Amino acid sequence: MPKYFPGPRSKFLKVECSKCNEQQIIFNSAASEVECNNCGETLAESRGGKARIKAEIKKELG
Ligand SMILES: [Zn+2]
Repeated sequence: MPKYFPGPRSKFLKVECSKCNEQQIIFNSAASEVECNNCGETLAESRGGKARIKAEIKKELG
């Protein structure tokens, strides 16, 4: 198990893939890499328990 501390800043984000424009809901503190469901492009990569978002953030869902 990776070290993971879900804090109050954890939230869901609606992002758009920069490659194919597929929109997808991801978690901003994802513990592992998140790929686009459509084309496999990396949307977020994990950096010490906090996701580094690489896709365009369209909306924050709290
Ligand atoms: Zn894509």
